[in-house]
Amino acid sequence: MQIEIDKLIRSKRRTIALIIERDGSFTVRAPMRAPRAAIDTFIQQKADWITRTRKKMKSIKPTVERQYFDGEKFLYLGSSFDLKLVEFQKHLLHLDSGFSLRRAAQAKGEQVFTRWYKERALEIISERVKQYSAQHNFIPKQIKISSAKTRWGSCSPNGTLNFTWRLVMAPLDVIDYVVVHELAHLRVKNHSSKFWDVVESIYPEYKKQRKWLRENGDKLSL
Ligand SMILES: [Zn+2]
Repeated sequence: MQIEIDKLIRSKRRTIALIIERDGSFTVRAPMRAPRAAIDTFIQQKADWITRTRKKMKSIKPTVERQYFDGEKFLYLGSSFDLKLVEFQKHLLHLDSGFSLRRAAQAKGEQVFTRWYKERALEIISERVKQYSAQHNFIPKQIKISSAKTRWGSCSPNGTLNFTWRLVMAPLDVIDYVVVHELAHLRVKNHSSKFWDVVESIYPEYKKQRKWLRENGDKLSL
């Protein structure tokens, strides 16, 4: 069976990588000068995997609309917590062994949760930025929390670091990787090998967290 490539991206890499996107489309990343025949042979060898993965991707159901009901699950720092509606509590939303939300706030659950995540994001990310900055002599100008969906962080030319609140749904080591990534941009603006050297010198394990984000990033949402 001939497998068609939707996108072939050549770059300064040493190996061929096959990527099945969420919509089932097929991207191949290949070294600059790899002969097309070598790429095709590689794809043929992986044909089973490609077919299987495509099928799996297509069968993933679109996410169900949140209702903010009892028993719904919400992520925080990489763990999943059940939601419980309560008649009265001091804050609209509270977390200890699970999330509890005041029943009267259920209709605006998304807003309440978003505000809660934003507050936690600012606390936690600020603290991590402070710690890494002190240890590795970075001077970020300011930290801002955004609502970006897939852009986990960015570093603006004036030295302001932006992070999406969705990051606090991820495990702390993933947050740390994104923090280090953006701090490293204060030294190297682009994603050259010099940049990754800076990241690696501070966070040697970063490839693991980067992979986690690639694979699980879509779960970091309400
Ligand atoms: Zn970057």
